[in-house]
Amino acid sequence: MSQHLLGQLRDELDVLDAKHLIRRRRTVETPSAPALRVDGRDLLAFCSNDYLGLAAHPAIIAALQEGASLYGVGSGASHLISGHSRAHAVLEERLAEFMSPYMEHARALYFCTGYMANLAVITALAGKDAAVFSEALNHASLIDGVRLSRAAVKVFPHRDYAALEQMLQESNANTKVVVTDSVFSMDGNIADLPALLALCERHDAWLMVDDAHGFGVLGTNGRGVLEHFNLRSPNLVYMGTLGKAAGVGGAFVAAHTTVIEWLVQKARPYIYTTAAPPALAHALLTSLDIISGAEGQQRRNNLQQLIASFRQGLRLPSWELMPSDTAIQPVVIGDNAVMLQVAANLLEQGIWVGAIRPPTVPAGSARLRITLSASHTREQVTQLVHALNELEAASNEAAKDEATSNGLAEAP
Ligand SMILES: *Cc1c(COP(=O)(O)O)cnc(C)c1O
Repeated sequence: MSQHLLGQLRDELDVLDAKHLIRRRRTVETPSAPALRVDGRDLLAFCSNDYLGLAAHPAIIAALQEGASLYGVGSGASHLISGHSRAHAVLEERLAEFMSPYMEHARALYFCTGYMANLAVITALAGKDAAVFSEALNHASLIDGVRLSRAAVKVFPHRDYAALEQMLQESNANTKVVVTDSVFSMDGNIADLPALLALCERHDAWLMVDDAHGFGVLGTNGRGVLEHFNLRSPNLVYMGTLGKAAGVGGAFVAAHTTVIEWLVQKARPYIYTTAAPPALAHALLTSLDIISGAEGQQRRNNLQQLIASFRQGLRLPSWELMPSDTAIQPVVIGDNAVMLQVAANLLEQGIWVGAIRPPTVPAGSARLRITLSASHTREQVTQLVHALNELEAASNEAAKDEATSNGLAEAP
């Protein structure tokens, strides 16, 4: 019996393997930084979401240690039993104040992870009589939230707000919820939130924004995509994660106080889980100080300069550097096996980038997901640019040779 069940799984794994879709984890032995020790090797990494380089910041490490001394390690219970500590309460006040320029009567709610925050918001706002309008390139956690809600779902094409407007017009649901990433995590481009918000206000719909890759990075003060576009509306429900640019872990939802009260009462991923260790919330206070202060601004400026120099240096005629101004700089190669070979060649040179395949991205758009951080040096970025330019030139030559030998290329 168990042989049969295990055999089924092995067959499925073999199918994945044949399609170059088996994923492997590498074990990192040093704190998050551009220079990592990975499985015993020194690598230069361009694949973390630690955009400001805060994940191993000495002041935040000290704050985490202080938090553990003050509050212990575990929270001991869920928030609605006895797990809601002073550290969580203070963090939520600080986050609400931080986001208050962009919403009236702002309140914030701290979650263990962004994945759970997304499940919480969508399932709490969209009951079975609601309609959810979901952007095609949304993150998996938003998609799972939509699936878990029992609402009717419409997926609108990437950044096609005319199609969305049509869908909103045709819907007679009592509650409408539009859900979108702000910065698309595998493409690096930004949703046109001013257009989306105008639509949502016109059609009396909630606009739920997942700013996992914007919080801390976008906006002069790091308040994220709402600051970037200077948006303010009672229709907004904002989700920011705290394990990427903020360097620690967890996430928060900021919205009108009535929305937050509704989540506390109704959101199952908030209610039925043990509260995150309070020391994490305490450490996040220092992270917020850095993000909102002069050091944060300095780090954001640094990151912007690295992004510009990365884009200026690349010459990739046969690959596609996606149009992105953010720290996410994907290079689309297309074929899974070719992309994996390029990633392996980079790794031979000691450079580690994300290798992203379907189903995370559409079939035929396998890509290197390169992420830059404020803690990279210009020399490190130049090293990556040279390596990519040379690999592209080599693979272009190889493709031409093959075409010539097959008689497919025009004679020069
Ligand atoms: C990382 C990510 C999440 C999940 O956040 P976690 O805190 O890692 O669970 C949600 N949405 C997007 C767009 C993300 O990139």
